Amino acid sequence: MTERSLPRFSHTVTERFLRYVLIDTQSNPASATCPSTEKQKDLGRLLAHELRAMGLSDAHLDDHGYVYATIPANTDKRVPVICFCSHMDTSPDCSGANVKPQLVRNYRGGDIVLPADPTQVIRAADHPALAGQIGNDIITTDGTTLLGADNKAGIAEIMDAAHLLLQNPQIRHGAIKILFTPDEEIGRGVDKVDLKKLGADFAYTIDGETAGNIEDETFSADGVTITIEGVSAHPGFAKGRMEHAIKIAAAIVDRLPKNTCSPETTEGREGFLHPIGISGTLERSTLGLIVRDFTDAGLQEKEALLEDIVEEVMQDYPHSTARIEIRQQYRNMKQVIDAHPEIVDNAMEAIRRAGLTPVKAAIRGGTDGSRLSFMGLPCPNIFAGEHAFHSRLEWVSVQDMEKAVQTIVNLAMIWEERAWSLSGSD
Ligand SMILES: [Zn+2]
Repeated sequence: MTERSLPRFSHTVTERFLRYVLIDTQSNPASATCPSTEKQKDLGRLLAHELRAMGLSDAHLDDHGYVYATIPANTDKRVPVICFCSHMDTSPDCSGANVKPQLVRNYRGGDIVLPADPTQVIRAADHPALAGQIGNDIITTDGTTLLGADNKAGIAEIMDAAHLLLQNPQIRHGAIKILFTPDEEIGRGVDKVDLKKLGADFAYTIDGETAGNIEDETFSADGVTITIEGVSAHPGFAKGRMEHAIKIAAAIVDRLPKNTCSPETTEGREGFLHPIGISGTLERSTLGLIVRDFTDAGLQEKEALLEDIVEEVMQDYPHSTARIEIRQQYRNMKQVIDAHPEIVDNAMEAIRRAGLTPVKAAIRGGTDGSRLSFMGLPCPNIFAGEHAFHSRLEWVSVQDMEKAVQTIVNLAMIWEERAWSLSGSD
C-alpha cells in the first residue's frame, strides 16, 4: 500500500484483499501433495480464523488445505443451500512472493507504469477494460510479482459478504456455505473436496473477470492420442520399403486446417483441433491433440475431420498403421446448469440489483466449476473483477470488488425471496 493507509480494523473488501495478497500461495504442478504447497495453508488458517471470529463456529481448514464454513439460515423458508467458492492459490506462471500492492486513486485514464519496474506498463490500448474504470481506484502490483486478484479478490469478496450478512440479520437468507480451495491453477482444485460435508445444492465460483459477467458455459474437451507404427529399414537399403513414422505424424499435422479450427485462428464460440505433443522414432511415433468446442456435435465434427485426415495420409503408407484413441476430458457445464435455470436467473437479478448490466459469457477453457457441476454441484462463475491475471500487469478495482460483494449479498437474499415458505403460503 503506498498512497494511503487504510484504517486498521475497517472490515472493507479492500482492506481484506490487501492483507490476503501479502500471503504467498503459489501452487506447484510438480508437487504430488495436496495442497501442492504447504504455504497455501497459511492463508487457509487465517481465513478459518477470521470466519470463526465472525461467529461461524464450524469454520475450519482441513488436512488437504480446503476451508469450509456455514452461515446458518435466518429464515423459516425452505431455501436451497447455496455455496460461494474461490481458490486460494496463485498461478505458477508468475511469482506471488513479496507482493507489494499499489493503489491508483481516482484513475484518470491512460497507461499505468508500475513503480518498481517501469518496463511493466498496463497500457490502456492493451487493456480495453480500463476504459470503464475512469474515476475508480485501481490496485496493481509494483511490477515485480503478480497481484493475486485471481482469486484473492473472490476470497475477499466472499469474506466481506459473509461479514455483511452476519452484521445485518434483517437480510433474510438460507444456509450459505463457504468453500475455499487450493490448487485450482494446476487443475486440482476439486480433487479432494468433500461435497457431502459441504452439503450445498448449488454453488457459484467468484472468479470471473469483468464486473457484471456471469459465465455458465465452458468448453467441452476431449484428448486424442494417435499412435503410428511405421516400417523400419536400414537407410542404405530402404528404397521402396521404409515408411517413416515421424514423417507420417508430420504429414498429419501438416494437413490440419490452417485458417480455421486452431487456437490462433478462432475466438468466441468457435472450437479447435490443437496438437500438443509429438514424439517418436522411425518405427513408431505418437501425436497428441486436444479438441475443444462448446457442443458435443462440434467435438464429433472435429474428431471426424481428424479421422479423415489420418485415413487420407495413411493411403500413402500401405504397410503402416495409425491407431486413434479419443478420451473425454471435461464437458460444458451448461449441460448441467440448464437443468436449473434459477441458478443463473437469480445471479442475473443479483447483478442487476448491484447496479450493473448482467452479461452472460462462455469460458474458452475449463474451470473447477465445470468439474463441480458434473460431480453433482451445478456451479457457474460470477465476476470477481480480476484482470490480466497470471501476470505482473494484474489489476483489480476497488469499486468492482465492492460490486461483487453486493452481488453476493443480493444473491443470498434473492434465493430466500424466491423460496417457498414452509407453511406453503410463500
Ligand atoms: Zn482463478
